Amino acid sequence: MIFPPHQGSIASLTPTLCHLLGVMPPSVSEEPALDMVISTLEDEDLPLEKCLIIAQDAIGAHLWGSHENELRKILPLVPLRVPLRAVFPPVTPVCFASIFTGAQPVVHGIHRYTRPVLECDTIFDALVRADKKVAIVSVENSSIDLIFRNRDIAYFSEDDDESVAERTLKVIQSDKYDVIVAYQADYDDNLHKSDPFSPICIQALEQHIQDFRKMAEAAKLHWNAIGHVIAFTPDHGAHIDPSTGKGDHGLDIPEDMNIFHCYGISPVRNGK
Ligand SMILES: [Zn+2]
Repeated sequence: MIFPPHQGSIASLTPTLCHLLGVMPPSVSEEPALDMVISTLEDEDLPLEKCLIIAQDAIGAHLWGSHENELRKILPLVPLRVPLRAVFPPVTPVCFASIFTGAQPVVHGIHRYTRPVLECDTIFDALVRADKKVAIVSVENSSIDLIFRNRDIAYFSEDDDESVAERTLKVIQSDKYDVIVAYQADYDDNLHKSDPFSPICIQALEQHIQDFRKMAEAAKLHWNAIGHVIAFTPDHGAHIDPSTGKGDHGLDIPEDMNIFHCYGISPVRNGK
């Protein structure tokens, strides 16, 4: 598959969601909102009320190249597929810090694989200021579980991906939250032990797709009468390191840097 010209950086998630939810972006956010997404809406569609963000680690464009037929199964739920660039270096805490601040690494301060609690303004702070109730459901001790701590939001730290999916379904059903982030890690964990296209990695990819569909369908159903957005927001891709034969990421190469984020927007329209 030929990767289309990119439409911006993965940091565009923050301004795009803030635009859709009618929330003032965090002070450090400097990316423009994605025109491919916001141009699909009429003024009266906004603001949307609810949001589910599903962040599955390392599901980059390299997989759309090799397993497009499988990945296409998410598109009925999130049809707006936007080609983007990761931030450099493309490693998990650097990328998710950018995704959830709208800022480049030089601004948010995580430049390499370190996982401090971010002190700068983030989308979570912006959402709290706008009285939105936020839940982060993640694998315990993952980057997302650690770097966004100390905010007035709910943190669900789970043992593994399976419990993340189960917890996310409960969090959706509980009706207590407006913005829910679900993070899963199995594909990334396995690519470092094998290679990005190994049978165990492809099995993890298939599980991610199945979980994505389950969580997104549950949100769509539960928020049927409420304007909402569902987003697929991986952090970076991966390549095979020729010196070890194993999977890795962190280089300024298309395999690591090319990402698709996918959005599904359901405004409440007249007569609905
Ligand atoms: Zn990652």
